[in-house]
Parts: sequence; structure tokens; C-alpha cells
Amino acid sequence: MANIPFGKPIIGEEELQSVREVMESGVLAHGPKIHEFEKAFAGFTGAPYAVGVSSCTAALHLFYFHAGIGQGDEVIVPAQTHTATAHAVSLTGATPVFVDAEEETGNINIGHIEQAITGKTRAISVVHYLGMPVQMDKVTAIAEKRGLLVVEDCALSIGARINGVHTGLFGDAGCFSFYPVKHMTTAEGGALITRDPGLAKQITNKRAFGMDKHVGVRTVPGLYDIQGLGFNYRMNEMQAAIGVHQVARLPGFLAARKRNYKLLAERLRDSACSDHFRLLQSSGDGYESSYYCLTILLTGKAAERRDEILLALKNQNIGTSIYYPHPVPLMSYYREKFGFRPEDFPVAAMLSNTGVALSVGPHITEENIDTMVKALEVVIIESY
Ligand SMILES: *Cc1c(COP(=O)(O)O)cnc(C)c1O
Repeated sequence: MANIPFGKPIIGEEELQSVREVMESGVLAHGPKIHEFEKAFAGFTGAPYAVGVSSCTAALHLFYFHAGIGQGDEVIVPAQTHTATAHAVSLTGATPVFVDAEEETGNINIGHIEQAITGKTRAISVVHYLGMPVQMDKVTAIAEKRGLLVVEDCALSIGARINGVHTGLFGDAGCFSFYPVKHMTTAEGGALITRDPGLAKQITNKRAFGMDKHVGVRTVPGLYDIQGLGFNYRMNEMQAAIGVHQVARLPGFLAARKRNYKLLAERLRDSACSDHFRLLQSSGDGYESSYYCLTILLTGKAAERRDEILLALKNQNIGTSIYYPHPVPLMSYYREKFGFRPEDFPVAAMLSNTGVALSVGPHITEENIDTMVKALEVVIIESY
């Protein structure tokens, strides 16, 4: 029987060795590895500054907190995203204002952003859905006109670029996740990239309680001052040590994802069940996806049987996922708080209800791809 997990972190000897060295050194936090990691991640993305933190959620929260966004403010948030994109806004006391997705890419419908902006709006957040870059020139044009900040949730877009420029470098900040199923991992972890040295300094400061001097730069041991509020959102030295090697592996990981995506898409188009789904757009005109996964959007009768199809694949040990199980505004917490209905976000609801995310991760082989397509053919065709 097949054994095809949806996500599988690839950790090598180098990571193991490095974690061991860090643990034996006794410097488990606030050490040199975090700087090495930040330099490597900045180098990979081409960002002038990268700040390592404990998660993507922490990076987003730090950004809004630093911007002074809170009670009475509003932030534009895509409806079709991870709940973290919205929670980071809500945690500050501000209100997420959800905007539906567009059909072609699943990204935020930019044409609907302006009508969602009010006098209270402070920022626009976008997510590069499944790694396909949002048309950032249009988003930043709206933001400039209305005097708003722009934050990019890049949790699924490591390696995604527009005309060679990495996602996360178009807005004021880009926030990344190194959770195990993402493109690279530090077990848990995240990073914020920016072109603004002042922002990088402030995020570095606020990720660690708002301390002005960190261990290692204190002239008198133990002496520091607090100039403002802050969190404990640091990335530790073991995470950073893993991250240094994962960044080095990224070009290989990304090439494997792209190869798997192309191959899977080709096989799906040639398959006997190709009339029963469509694919989202994943590249074009200088837009390069990070190929997080390949989502098929089931149509017609097959769409009604989506969960059955997911279960049938699961029973054959073929891992799938749903991005995302419900649009964020239709998750109980937000739905009950704001009284949203599925009709309010028809495209996001369609993506959630008809999507089957197939893995194209670097652990996937050509044989796995054949297995996935054959299994899909059987389960989809059987329903007719
Ligand atoms: C995974 C994910 C997050 C959360 O990342 P963490 O590092 O677990 O906080 C945020 N946004 C998107 C779009 C994600 O897919």
C-alpha cells in the first residue's frame, strides 16, 4: 500500500550535528546562531533585514503591535487564509475586515479592497495563497493613495517572486513560517523581512520584552533598560541552527516542488477524470509561485462528494489537505462575532468546499504522483 504523507520535513545530518553543537555549547538562546540564521534568510530572500521570531503569527502580531494598531482600528484581511492572518489583527484589539478571494488564483480580490476601506483602516494584509504571488503593484498603489501600511503573509510563499523580487519585499513587511509542513522548517519558527532598518531594529527589540540591550552586547552583565512593551517571541538557538541548514537546502526543495507540480499537473490534465476539476493559476507574466501544493477544485457532482474523495484517498494512505477548511470569517469564532454568512464570501467558500490539496513536497516521487492520479481517477470516476 502507498505511504504518501502530505507534508514531511527533510532534516539532514547537518541539522542534527548543528543542534547537538548548540546544545553542548550551553548557549540555547540569545546566541550567535540567530544572527547567522537571519543573515542566511536575508541573503536568500534578498531582504536588507530579516528578524527571526517564534512563528509567523508572532511576526504578524509584532508588526501590528509595533505600528500601534489596536482598538478602533481596522485591517483588511483576505477571507481565504490561515486563521493566523486574522488572529494577529484581532489580538491587538483591532478589527479584521475580510475581503473575498478571486477565482483564478485564490488570492484576495484586489478589486474589492477599496470598497472595504473606511476612515478606520490602518493596513492591508495579503496572503500569497498556496505560493502564488498577489499582484502587489496594485495593492501598494491602493495603500499609497489611502496612506495605509501593507503586510504580506508569506507563510506559503518562500521562493515566490514577482519579476525576480521575493514576496515580502513589496509591502512594509513580509512574515514567514517555518512550521514543519511549510517549505522549510525550524520545528516552529518564523521571520519578518523588511527594507526598513528602523522597523527591523524595533521588531528585534519587541520580540524580546522591549529590552534595549541583549545578552552579549551588555557592557555590565545583566544590565538593560526597557523602553516599551514587548513579547517573548524569540527564535531559540536550536531552531536557528536548524534554519541555517534548511535555508541552504531551499533551492533544492523549491526545484523539487516545481518539478513535482509540473509533473502532477500534466498527469492530471491527461487523466481520465480531468473533466471533473480545474486547477488554480500558479504562474505567468513574471509571477513565480513557490508551489506549496497542487489544489484541484472539484466541479459538478464530484464537488458534492469532496469529503468522501478525501476519505477514500486517506484510506489508501495518500495524504491530502484542505487550504483552508473554512474561510476565516466563517470559522465559528468570527462567524458568531460578526454574524457572517457563506454568501458573504462565495469564492472563498467555493475554494474551501471543493478543494483537494495534493502534495508536491520534496519527499514526493514520480511513482507517488502516478499513485495519486490513479487513485483520483478511480474514486472520481466511480461516482458517476
Ligand atoms: C501556516 C500559516 C500561518 C501560521 O504560521 P505559524 O508559523 O504556525 O504561526 C500563517 N499564515 C499562513 C498563510 C499559513 O499558511
